[in-house]
Amino acid sequence: MSKKVVIIGGVAGGASTAARLRRNDENIEIIMLEKGKYISFANCGLPYHIGGSIQERDNLLLQTPEAFNQRFNVDVRVLNEVLSIDREKKTVEVKNLETNEVYTEAYDTLVLSPGSTPIQPPIKGIDSENIFILWNMDHMDQIIEHIKTKNIKKTAVIGGGFIGIEMAENLHDLKLDVSLVEMADQVMAPVDFDMAQGIHAHMRDKNVNLILSDGVNYFEDVNGQTKIVLNSGKELLVDMVILSIGVKAQSGLAKNAGLTLNQRGGIVVDKFMLTNDPSIYALGDAVEIEHFVTKEQAMIPLAGPANKQGRIVADNIVGKKTTYKGTQGTSIAKVFDLTVANTGLNEKDLKRAGKELHKDYETLIIHPKSNAGYYPGAFPMTFKTIFDLEGKILGAQIVGYNGVDKRIDVMATAMRFGGTIYDLKDLELAYAPPFSSAKAPENMVGFTAENMLNGVCPMVNWHEIDALQADGAVILDVRTAEEAELGAIKDSINIEVDDLRNKLGVLDKNKKYVIYCAVGIRGYIALRILKENGFKEVYNLTGGYSTYNCVVCNSGDDDHCTGTTCCNDVCDPDVQKELQMPRQINTEVVEFDLNACGLACPGPIRAVYQKMGDMNPGEVLNVTATDPGFKSDIRKWAHSQGNEVLDSGFDGKTFYAKVLKGGEAPKHDSHPGNNKTMVVFSDDLDRAIASFIIANGAAAMGRKVTMFFTFWGLNVIKKHEKMNLKKSLIPSMFSKMLPRGSKQLKLSKMHMGGIGSKMIRGLMNEYNVDSLEMMIKQAIDAGVNIIACNMSMDLMGVHEDELIEGVQLGGVATYLAEGEEADINLFI
Ligand code: FAD
Repeated sequence: MSKKVVIIGGVAGGASTAARLRRNDENIEIIMLEKGKYISFANCGLPYHIGGSIQERDNLLLQTPEAFNQRFNVDVRVLNEVLSIDREKKTVEVKNLETNEVYTEAYDTLVLSPGSTPIQPPIKGIDSENIFILWNMDHMDQIIEHIKTKNIKKTAVIGGGFIGIEMAENLHDLKLDVSLVEMADQVMAPVDFDMAQGIHAHMRDKNVNLILSDGVNYFEDVNGQTKIVLNSGKELLVDMVILSIGVKAQSGLAKNAGLTLNQRGGIVVDKFMLTNDPSIYALGDAVEIEHFVTKEQAMIPLAGPANKQGRIVADNIVGKKTTYKGTQGTSIAKVFDLTVANTGLNEKDLKRAGKELHKDYETLIIHPKSNAGYYPGAFPMTFKTIFDLEGKILGAQIVGYNGVDKRIDVMATAMRFGGTIYDLKDLELAYAPPFSSAKAPENMVGFTAENMLNGVCPMVNWHEIDALQADGAVILDVRTAEEAELGAIKDSINIEVDDLRNKLGVLDKNKKYVIYCAVGIRGYIALRILKENGFKEVYNLTGGYSTYNCVVCNSGDDDHCTGTTCCNDVCDPDVQKELQMPRQINTEVVEFDLNACGLACPGPIRAVYQKMGDMNPGEVLNVTATDPGFKSDIRKWAHSQGNEVLDSGFDGKTFYAKVLKGGEAPKHDSHPGNNKTMVVFSDDLDRAIASFIIANGAAAMGRKVTMFFTFWGLNVIKKHEKMNLKKSLIPSMFSKMLPRGSKQLKLSKMHMGGIGSKMIRGLMNEYNVDSLEMMIKQAIDAGVNIIACNMSMDLMGVHEDELIEGVQLGGVATYLAEGEEADINLFI
């Protein structure tokens, strides 16, 4: 006689078991009992049908009982709830929910895949008609009906986990006002606090009223609405509440049948997914599994593990003896325009287990681009990797716009095969500019992590800065002065990396140094310079200022939040004011488009500056860019220029901004104290590049800039073509020996017979930094005053005709007069 298998639960785990079982054995009698109306529905898609991204409800129903029966010859019984299990008699008691008939069904093997259920704690007022949970099709239908019929405007989601955040996004897509209340100090528990800060910023940017570190005290219905009183005393009055504060295993049946459960109510199974009863298997959200990394017991409710366990259970029923190898918790979620993903352990898990940073594990944050920076669509991501001191990867978390899914899957796969950070270096991953970089982000993790572990580049974290500072460490900012002006770590000193070798004398070798740049790359170079010059204790800040600033600003650390390039403008009072200003948009307005995609900071802002220079007040510029910094930079810039950002955001591919040209000239122009002057004395390629970067940046901020080229500096502004000019002996010797124009300039260091200059120019090209020649042109176009020193022209025998167009001749008095009205005066 053939075997009879009864399966409880007809969705992820149950349906997978049934289908695989039939493929394994054509003769087994299979009965699948499901208390709900549907089997195999896409519960992961429910929030997206509410929000309208999945338009057809039927698309969520992956199988009907009839079709499943026809294909797999499984007796599918929906609306049939199992009430109890009699292990002695090997029967289950079932209630047909349509007829109320209760009957008994015998089994040879029983499979439990009853899933989990949303937690609904006994909070006062929780039974209000305005409060919903989301776990199945019925719940989804109820929410949609409520929104349609009750004129819903204001909503609140309680709980910032996957489902809560997905619901916040989908309610927002319906143009509803959304508040999200989370008891912890961060949303998305699988990622760490530092990784969550960018998510918070992004949600606030989308106008979600995000309330952290606060829980619900009670609910109270008031005139058809629901008042939510929080533990802090804060109150919200909303039309609808989605409760999504976690799930618990549906293990009541197993418990009553005397099966072994863990403390959290999870059904205990062995590696074959067998319970303590040799005739009963269990799987999915309801069971306790082994954590792949820690090898400890855990409960991780996810669809992937449930589906894979279904296959294992079916194989074991027919005697194939397959084992479940553990869950590592790989998960991913869309948070508006961001993607958030993780695998393995996070730092919170490690700390809970008593592990210590630098002793038991290390963390690394890098900000690689999703694809080659020079190809459109390259977005930086925040990529955190956690590994032990032998290099074994313990976990990874990524937050970004593009390519996050691919990267997390590579990390999850590497971990599955016991990979180390050393293995990441060697991974050969697919590369072409639209898809990745020749050194893929995972390779970069490998390179950087190796440097950390072998002491080439020791790293510290953002949260260690205060203690190190208190301990006497010097915090050294090696970004450009221009970048530092936009925000820096408190009490740090700024020496640009390219100037560091010249300024080593001002640093004390006996002190401890923490170096930082924007993301960590220049910090690494600077660290090596100090180390090679005998500095003993030097660290690089992991993730650089990007991570530091994002974390301190968004976690409300006002003492440390100094940046105007903050990834969340909510802490900037100027921007707040601007955001709140009533907008008057003239529909008749003349609009222009500007595509600044692919340009690296400050390229997009400079492009906007140039374009708006030709526009009239009241006209509007629509800009697109791929540099994420553009989002906050454009608001800051517009504000400083008397323009107004009417709209800005991310359309899934690019950042966009709609900027209205203001009527008034920028205030700074009339403020002479804001001018910038510089003497360009050197004709070194690197110094010339630096001087034009600063000049163009300042010009884009609306400052008046004067560059005074003297002595060797004159070579920078010479034409490239040879001129047939009559010169006496010494000037003609000078002409022959000195560089003729910017293309012939040499690097101050590492020139290496011209290879160094070529490398720098190649790197500038790769990173989308304009060439020196382009920068010179931009400076002239932006109205930078380029003055050639009369006196040194005479001494060096340089003729006016040898200089590029747009250069004025002037003496020291011209320069000094400009200098009197400047607040920055550089000698380069
Ligand atoms: P389920 O798929 O929940 O199936 C259990 C079934 O058993 C239920 O239909 C239930 O009605 C039935 N049942 C319970 N008791 C009885 C009984 N006594 N008699 C008969 N039938 C019974 N996971 C991801 O990995 N990624 C995601 O993006 C994701 N998004 C999600 C979004 C939402 C809105 C929801 C609700 C879940 C999401 N999940 C996601 C979780 C994922 O759906 C679950 O981990 C997975 O479905 C668990 O499978 P399971 O078989 O254990 O339970």
